[in-house]
Amino acid sequence: MNIHEYQGKQLLRDYGVAVSNGRVAFSPDEAVKAAKELGTDVIVVKAQIHAGGRGKAGGVKIAKNLDEVREYAKELLGKTLVTHQTGPEGKEIKRLLIEEGSDIKKEYYIGLVVDRATDRVTLMGSEEGGMDIEEVAEKTPEKIFKEVIDPIVGLTGFQARRMAFNMNIPTHLVNKAAKFMLGLYQVFVEKDASIVEINPLVVTSNDDVLALDAKFNFDANALYRHKDIVELRDFDEEDAKEIEASKYDLSYISLDGNIGCMVNGAGLAMATMDTINYYGGAPANFLDVGGGATAEKVTEAFKIILSDEAVKGIFVNIFGGIMKCDVIAEGVIAAAKEVDFKYH
Ligand code: GDP
Ligand code: MN
Repeated sequence: MNIHEYQGKQLLRDYGVAVSNGRVAFSPDEAVKAAKELGTDVIVVKAQIHAGGRGKAGGVKIAKNLDEVREYAKELLGKTLVTHQTGPEGKEIKRLLIEEGSDIKKEYYIGLVVDRATDRVTLMGSEEGGMDIEEVAEKTPEKIFKEVIDPIVGLTGFQARRMAFNMNIPTHLVNKAAKFMLGLYQVFVEKDASIVEINPLVVTSNDDVLALDAKFNFDANALYRHKDIVELRDFDEEDAKEIEASKYDLSYISLDGNIGCMVNGAGLAMATMDTINYYGGAPANFLDVGGGATAEKVTEAFKIILSDEAVKGIFVNIFGGIMKCDVIAEGVIAAAKEVDFKYH
């Protein structure tokens, strides 16, 4: 599960990790009010969508006065922002983060991920922060440093300081940067995050070391023990068909092909998608109706597949060993009666 930047920054604040002051705004009036309360000369107006690449796409504006805050808020709210992470359809901006401006001296990158190769949480850092960390990883991977963290010991001060030195953080700020990393690790572990990415982490002209951006992803399997995180879920950012499917406990993922898939078992569903691709087709979705699906669930699954306008046909591939095929048939017939099937 993803959350917005402003929510991630609040979480960091709660853990004593340095971030700039800011407030969320849903309208130009709220944006101006927030900017007044912050009271700084420079105000940053940032589009809040669940995707990065906003800076390059015009989703981050620097305002020098309240009129500019209003102007930028009007411009951004309701606009569909297309970044390299949103896909060509883009995402509509419905919330803004109004933040006090920082005088940036240098931008760095810092992040934590669960590294499956080592089975460890791994701290990654680079002095090549800012907007294009993917490019740094591809072209100059030696500029990205890693610290593999022992789960029993946790991130140690020594590792955090070594990372700060590797990143060429100014010597007098190494301890501030290390404190930042230790706090970041604490949030990551306590909230069962699977990714936290701070890009950029900045050093300012006042010698602050703070997060200018915050991207969090949480392990869905652990959400049951984090009600506070679940509350941050923004349904506007999620696929409507996936939300509908989750109500019926169906594992459904939207894809951009035109062949709907109705399959039971995740392995069979993946093999079916591979087969469709192998023969030059493109699946419209991944769907695992599971082993114990009822006719009602199958009906809903069919309706969800049919609500996708790109779907031109549906491939039903059911393994009878874990599911009664007549239940599937009942569901298909019920769905056919409720929804208008078009035959080609
Ligand atoms: P992303 O492009 O979606 O990752 O959005 P970011 O939050 O990383 O913002 C993109 C860029 O905007 C940053 O790398 C900064 O260069 C710039 N930016 C963001 N906040 C500020 C700020 O307070 N002051 C200044 N001068 N630049 C900022
Ligand atoms: Mn960023």
